[in-house]
Amino acid sequence: MTCSEILDMVYEEPDNMPLFNQIRIWLHTIFCPNCAQEIERYQVSRAILQNDFFPISPGLEESIMAKIDTLEEEEEIKDAYAVPGGLSTRGWVIAGLIIFVSLATSFFGFDFRHLTNESGISFLLPMGITIGIVLTTYGALFIGSHLKELSERFGL
Ligand SMILES: [Zn+2]
Repeated sequence: MTCSEILDMVYEEPDNMPLFNQIRIWLHTIFCPNCAQEIERYQVSRAILQNDFFPISPGLEESIMAKIDTLEEEEEIKDAYAVPGGLSTRGWVIAGLIIFVSLATSFFGFDFRHLTNESGISFLLPMGITIGIVLTTYGALFIGSHLKELSERFGL
């Protein structure tokens, strides 16, 4: 993805952006401070425009606070189900996605063709081992910390 492609995505669909695009943009901003700054500027000016053009109605603050309260309650309920000292299920899904995306980009990204050309097939073996180890570790940790949940769900 080039910088202009990333910025086009930000400008075209700032709301309801698919998660995959959000991750791609997020990954890009880690390595590209220019775009990170540009996206931040764009978001700040959008927020200013929205507040100035649509004055806040008196009841809005209350409804926002009520919404925040219910969100916090939901969060507390979720926390109660979370594994002690571990991540919530949503945390696991996000962690898994990040691992998968970073593996995919580091191995199948722009360097892949170059690397296989240079080191030939011998590169594929450590790559396979690394992916295997990471996925196995992730799977083992996930199952280990969700044992109770999984056994209830599948009646084990
Ligand atoms: Zn960029």
